[in-house]
Amino acid sequence: METQFSRAALATASGRRANEILRSCVHCGLCNATCPTYQLLGDELDGPRGRIYLIKSLLEAPEPGRAKVAQTHLDRCLTCRACETTCPSGVAYGELLEIGRDAADEQAARTLWQRMMRQWLGLVVPSIRWFPRWVALGRLLRWVLPARLKAALPGSPAASVAPSKLSKPVLPPVKPSSRRALLLQGCVQRAATPEVNAAVIRFFNNQGVETVLADGEGCCGGLNLHLGQAAPARQAMRRNLDALTPLLDQVQWVVSSASGCGVTVKDYGRLLADDPEYAAAASRLASMTRDLAEVAAELVGRDAPALASVQGKPVNAAGPVPAVKQMTPSPTFPGSTPAARDEPADVLGPPPRKVAWHPPCTLQHGQRISGLVEGMLAAAGYELAPVKDAHLCCGAAGTYALLQPELADQLKRNKLANLTVAQPQVIATANVGCQMHLASAAHRPVVHWIQLLSRSVSDVA
Ligand code: SF4
Ligand code: SF4
Repeated sequence: METQFSRAALATASGRRANEILRSCVHCGLCNATCPTYQLLGDELDGPRGRIYLIKSLLEAPEPGRAKVAQTHLDRCLTCRACETTCPSGVAYGELLEIGRDAADEQAARTLWQRMMRQWLGLVVPSIRWFPRWVALGRLLRWVLPARLKAALPGSPAASVAPSKLSKPVLPPVKPSSRRALLLQGCVQRAATPEVNAAVIRFFNNQGVETVLADGEGCCGGLNLHLGQAAPARQAMRRNLDALTPLLDQVQWVVSSASGCGVTVKDYGRLLADDPEYAAAASRLASMTRDLAEVAAELVGRDAPALASVQGKPVNAAGPVPAVKQMTPSPTFPGSTPAARDEPADVLGPPPRKVAWHPPCTLQHGQRISGLVEGMLAAAGYELAPVKDAHLCCGAAGTYALLQPELADQLKRNKLANLTVAQPQVIATANVGCQMHLASAAHRPVVHWIQLLSRSVSDVA
């Protein structure tokens, strides 16, 4: 694609990068075929190619009227990055979108309501201190809340626990080992689905890996980034680097169990490349970060079988779960959490279970990880239900469900219809946002896949 950037635009790092990305697009439009908003709305400007043109015009010839139009269509983008997976030219759409959103917000003022809503979301949702309190308040006032907010409330029983306990949930005891993983606890997940981190610790215990938790770690910055709030996002990243860097020499991996956080932390190197104080640390942390699926697959020692060979087959089709190492208790490693309770409430019932797997966009498009979870679940004895259009977003997308409720709702209904065709007993996913969003209308348990795997491995042990 030809571009005509002004000299002033090319004088900035973001201008040069946008120019480079735009020039890699050959405007073939193949990406439109896998864009959820283009499929729903049928408008070229609500597909990736149209949005790329809008961003180009924002950067080449700033004009408030045009910027307002661009802002509307960029707001409707889910940042799911399905278009990136489809694009044959390797266009870095997600990165371009970040630059385009900043430009649109600079050129066109938002309404007071939009500003207030976005500020509130950017302050409260990533806050380990305030999010649990708002959840508790929301549950108390549930009957007066608009349907949209009511549906967004976490459905986990943990949400009815006192807010003080939610910010420091009780986790199972950590078994010390020479192999250590620094587990990112996240922000929303820690409060809304604390059973997930508990399941990760149980899984690591059974695999002979000691879980290390960092005091002072919080939101990865992804939520603020999604909202176009660069300053608080960078502040969150720096705070995490302060908390995590001192522990890096003592661990093999930094592990994220929420794919939305993992995709952001893996990108810290790029996001803080211009920060002289933190660039090196950001790059080191990013290089050590793995999604839980990558580490779990390495630990259980099996590559994911081809999906075609496991989907729809009877349980145990992919062979028995490997034996797990028996642990010997030893003194607790500094940074590990002592605990009082091991088992969460079992919502899954007795195995075997038919599972519908929903791969979050941040896993399959953002991190380009496919097949690992499916392989491990099948190997552990779960039957995988066939799911159509698995590449499409469920509509959660950070705060999208609150800012674009109609589109998010339609995407959720479509996704649940596809997930439940084969009547699975449980839906599994890998990101807290998808889990909460789908659970609000699923009529069956929606869990993190590690809850299934940790139980299965524990059963074998
Ligand atoms: S598929 Fe890639 S090259 Fe083609 S229009 Fe979309 S972004 Fe541009
Ligand atoms: S990120 Fe998703 S919603 Fe946005 S343009 Fe790409 S495919 Fe469409």
